[in-house]
Amino acid sequence: MSYDRPLLVHVNTTSTGGGVAELLHRLIPAQNDDGTAVGWAVVSGNPEFFALTKTLHHLLHGKGDPTPLAGVDAGTLYRSVLRPQGLWLAGQLREGDTVALHDPQTLGMAPMLAARGIRVVWHCHIGTTDRSATKPDYVWRFLAPEFDDVDVVLATRPEFGPPRFARRRHVVAPAIDPDSPKNRPLTAAEVDALLGGIGLVGPAAGDDLSATLDQVGPVPPNAPIVLQVSRWDPLKDMIGVLRCLPGLPQDVHLVLAGPDPYEVTDDPEGVVVLAEVRAAYRDLPEPERRRVHLVNLSMRDPERNALLINALQRRADVVLQKSLEEGFGLTVTEAMHKYRPVVASAVGGLALQVVDGETGLLVDPTDYAGVAAAVRRLLVDRDLCRRLGAQAAAEVARRYHISRLVADYRQVVRQLQT
Ligand code: UDP
Repeated sequence: MSYDRPLLVHVNTTSTGGGVAELLHRLIPAQNDDGTAVGWAVVSGNPEFFALTKTLHHLLHGKGDPTPLAGVDAGTLYRSVLRPQGLWLAGQLREGDTVALHDPQTLGMAPMLAARGIRVVWHCHIGTTDRSATKPDYVWRFLAPEFDDVDVVLATRPEFGPPRFARRRHVVAPAIDPDSPKNRPLTAAEVDALLGGIGLVGPAAGDDLSATLDQVGPVPPNAPIVLQVSRWDPLKDMIGVLRCLPGLPQDVHLVLAGPDPYEVTDDPEGVVVLAEVRAAYRDLPEPERRRVHLVNLSMRDPERNALLINALQRRADVVLQKSLEEGFGLTVTEAMHKYRPVVASAVGGLALQVVDGETGLLVDPTDYAGVAAAVRRLLVDRDLCRRLGAQAAAEVARRYHISRLVADYRQVVRQLQT
């Protein structure tokens, strides 16, 4: 097929699950409406490749074990998966087109694209603000050959991205689409119907199979809900959230929701983490277990999945994001958009998204009592919740709507073509 304008193609590793897929589902139609000829390609890989890229992911967050990167095998595996796919993609494109490679999982395609005169954007959604962290250096060394072929680096925070990259770099924060099924307004009746459908609330066992729940029974009608929505990833610290339960009032119910890890191919750790969370849940004494609901959400029907997250966030009295590291938590922006009071860890992008005491509360994620105290403060002070929620929604409208991201990309691509 021929086209009359330069193309922009986004590349990542999954079409469902996680923030980058979420972002691309909304960004690409919005860029299309804006007049950009835009496409999306998803890289495939075997479990060994995705185990390796998960190592890169954790190291960029300043965590994990760098050992798997040592030796030639890791580099050979990484490049043998990505270079043929880069070559294939380059063959579909023309000189002067642009490819945005998202996160370290796709960067290995850069040399094949650059060799054909295609402009390469590397969009890095992860990193750590801990300046003493040395683990990201392993990643920069591992990926050094690829950076020679990158024209511009986009990163969520100025501290993220390769420190010695000498060409263009821009700070570009993620964004949400307020009109999407994930974020559009829902009536109270819609929220009840959606959550009743999966059996989280209401008298009847749900007949909607979009989620499987580990719970003793549904959340009682007026019980406060504290919610965390996350992939089943160790850095999201779902088990740590369970450990906060003893510090919460006796009527509070904790809802931990995430995408079914068996449906996600690029995150082999998910299955293990969900099993660990389930084991920790089963170990809770019966009275505490009654107040915990593990919600494993299918991604097979993306619209239903998005509506369920929307309903969960709207029903929550407090939305928690107790990540140990976080590049940028879309879940937090989604909750803020819905006027929810949020408690988020003072790490990475979260510390930028939430202004402590103004648009939410920031906490030290290793201090369980402190996290619980912040949640308790919100549960008792409804005026504070209203103030934080209103300021949060205004902040999201000002800085984190998808139209801003479209404009950022427009500028980056235009600069590359001059
Ligand atoms: N999400 C989803 N379905 C789920 C669980 C999560 O669509 O069952 C979405 C969530 O609403 C958010 C994204 O996945 O939009 C997670 O993005 P975030 O930036 O919070 O974290 P990441 O997964 O990128 O580390």
